Amino acid sequence: MPELPEVETIKEDLRALVTGSRIERAEVPDERLVEGETAAEFAQGLSGRTIEEAHRRGKHLVLELDDGRRAVMQLKIGGQLLLVPPVEEPASAVMLVLYLEDERRLFLRDETGYTRAQLYTGEALRERLSTLGPEPLGDEFSVEYLRRVAGDRRAQIKPLILDQSIAAGVGNIYADEALHDARLHPRRKASSLSEEEWENLHRAIRENLAAGIEYRGTTFSLYRDVLGREGAHQHHLKVFLREEEPCPACGGKVVREQVGGRATFVCPACQPERPAKAGDGDGLQLELGL
Ligand SMILES: [Zn+2]
Repeated sequence: MPELPEVETIKEDLRALVTGSRIERAEVPDERLVEGETAAEFAQGLSGRTIEEAHRRGKHLVLELDDGRRAVMQLKIGGQLLLVPPVEEPASAVMLVLYLEDERRLFLRDETGYTRAQLYTGEALRERLSTLGPEPLGDEFSVEYLRRVAGDRRAQIKPLILDQSIAAGVGNIYADEALHDARLHPRRKASSLSEEEWENLHRAIRENLAAGIEYRGTTFSLYRDVLGREGAHQHHLKVFLREEEPCPACGGKVVREQVGGRATFVCPACQPERPAKAGDGDGLQLELGL
């Protein structure tokens, strides 16, 4: 499922491989793709345009066109952008084909069919993205910011960090990994976190997203980069999808739970559900039920 690191990898690939290319024409084999206008209008809007830049905002991929409009794509669960050649032409689940100069084609493929795309003017795009919170790897996303927007909330911490209005781009994989690094149970109430726990969480979110980018994304099944390659971050996960496997920090078993309606992977030993009180041993007693 493409989260910030996966969309960032795709964006950087597009920057290197297709910016500056003219779209000779566009085809929309799957009309479910297009929002806001008809598939024919969408294809017409892309035809003859040059892709000037590629951007990412949260999990949104944005292609900037030379007429000032922007094509925004949400890859949702299984969206792939594949450049043909060198990638072999995909045989199924094609939602969009951009015929570029030099006989190259950019395919948007999605086995799940959930990817959506829309063309916007700059102003309308700003409006569309205005509900997103800051980029978690940017300066605005500070510990102070996180405490200010979430510190008094009685909500569970995991749904809060998945909330795109708080941190744009964090999804299920990186949330579970960050909470494990910060030694926080995903069900902890935000208002119960100490100052040190907020600092640990903030650092863990940034470190895990940065690692995801460095390893060019996490591939379980569907995610690919623009050249059809899998990411490598799945080999470095500590808890996500590692049910029954040993926690790399303590050797205990990772368990799977439901938190906020989402599958969630936790090391119960490293991530106690009740907050430990520093110094006096109360936390241990709470854990042991004393
Ligand atoms: Zn552990």
